[in-house]
Amino acid sequence: DRVQIRRALISVSDKSGLTELAQALGEAGVEIVSTGSTGKTIREAGVNVTDVSEITGFPESLGGRVKTLHPAVHAGILADLRLDSHESQLDELGIAPFELVVVNLYPFVETVRSGAQPEDVIEQIDIGGPALVRASAKNHANVTIVVSPERYAEVIEAVKAGGTNFEQRRDFAAQAFAHTAAYDMAVAGWFAERSRSEQKVSEGEAESTSSWPQALALEGNLEATLRYGENSHQRAALYRTGNGRGIAQATQLHGKDMSYNNYVDADAALRAAYDFEAPAVAIIKHANPCGIAVAPEGLDDAAAIAEAHRRAHACDSLSAFGGVIAANRPVSREMAETVKDIFTEVIVAPGFEPEAVEILTAKKNLRLLELPSDYVREDTEVRQISGGFLTQSTDSFAGRGNLSTDWQLVAGDAADEATLRDLEFAWIACRSVKSNAILLAHDGASVGVGMGQVNRVDSCHLAVNRAGERAAGSVAASDAFFPFADGPKVLFDAGVRAIVQPGGSIRDEEVIEAAKAAGVTMYFTGERHFFH
Ligand code: 5GP
Repeated sequence: DRVQIRRALISVSDKSGLTELAQALGEAGVEIVSTGSTGKTIREAGVNVTDVSEITGFPESLGGRVKTLHPAVHAGILADLRLDSHESQLDELGIAPFELVVVNLYPFVETVRSGAQPEDVIEQIDIGGPALVRASAKNHANVTIVVSPERYAEVIEAVKAGGTNFEQRRDFAAQAFAHTAAYDMAVAGWFAERSRSEQKVSEGEAESTSSWPQALALEGNLEATLRYGENSHQRAALYRTGNGRGIAQATQLHGKDMSYNNYVDADAALRAAYDFEAPAVAIIKHANPCGIAVAPEGLDDAAAIAEAHRRAHACDSLSAFGGVIAANRPVSREMAETVKDIFTEVIVAPGFEPEAVEILTAKKNLRLLELPSDYVREDTEVRQISGGFLTQSTDSFAGRGNLSTDWQLVAGDAADEATLRDLEFAWIACRSVKSNAILLAHDGASVGVGMGQVNRVDSCHLAVNRAGERAAGSVAASDAFFPFADGPKVLFDAGVRAIVQPGGSIRDEEVIEAAKAAGVTMYFTGERHFFH
């Protein structure tokens, strides 16, 4: 079932890796057919190329709208050469088959994101490209379809080895259909949004200036099947999105295979640690932090990340057993020395000092994950619901600077500089705790976390109990307003001296009065950070 590659059609908007691919195909004696600017790039690289117009006998026309949409191209792609009838018809028509098709589509999503005018967006809806991709993928018994420059190396290797095998071609076809499906979903989303905003205008509402929802390209490539899902009777798999740069793209340096829960927790840990500019460590259990801390100022990164870890661990060392750790700086030797004695499932970080790797790889089961150098969270989050899915813009503190300048002092004395820094720390850290979230902090580290309760009083009790003696003199953050004064009273009684919360309850006055009576400083942020 190996198909030798003799003739290739290449038509790509993203020209990355194109020269290398064309040169390798040229050297292997493959005949290359190309569209306008793709052909130009290949020719400039010194490789022979036939223009598609030569094959169709038609010039590329209508400003590029019609290039490859022609039977001479599509019959060459769709012919199933396992059938004699197809082969003889191609002969009669004088059409040669293609064994390889390399296409990537007009940058529709990027054009929408750039804020382009509707006419320009519409021009970036690729028509001929998806037709090439779908035709080739349908005929994967005969044709290899490549839609991602990341896989050129694999193609070159296969060409040199005498062709692609069936499994490879089917795998490429699956990626190809996922690619066109995601592309059309983005186009459909954009159209739906246009109709909605025009309807709003006709109903007298102002058209929203921000483009939301953004064209969403949910294109997943199956990366691995996982041993099991959240539980051992559930099946699970990992998909990577094409241009993602997150936990799914991390490189595993050591340890057992990542599990479904490992991925969920590692992502939650990153969400927590990367909210801070300062060196920070978050330790996660069941998607919740059991410790978060930043390093004090004045340490170099290596010492700082070790200190952040030490403090995060100290918050709740009992719960940290079997935890997932994220650091927002490379893991240093110092940090590795401490972690090595603590049972840990995963450490994810932007890097690991060589000595840290040496120390940590002595632990057989500990998974070490290195983030892509350009790690970034998506600016849109997606969650499945039955029958559909929800999207929202991602909640993040990254790059927001000094938050407290926008806060309102509603009770007690204005906090001194150190207390204010602790309140800011608590407010940011609290965001990565599942609601209802109450987080007590001292000196840049959480000391008690109350998470995931269905009323705020229980979260307060939990945070205070976890903090123990450390509750006295700590500061607290609450992810949403206190509906009654009962929750805050739990905190006052434990000796919490300052609280930051969004405010906005109809009983704010009651809460403020209680804080004043207890001599506790209270700030309102005016912004809620639910996390469910
Ligand atoms: P080039 O940069 O080579 O001029 O054009 C490459 C792009 O054209 C690719 O993104 C490919 O998907 C697209 N394409 C190929 N054939 C056609 C066609 O017939 N019509 C349209 N609109 N786009 C095409």
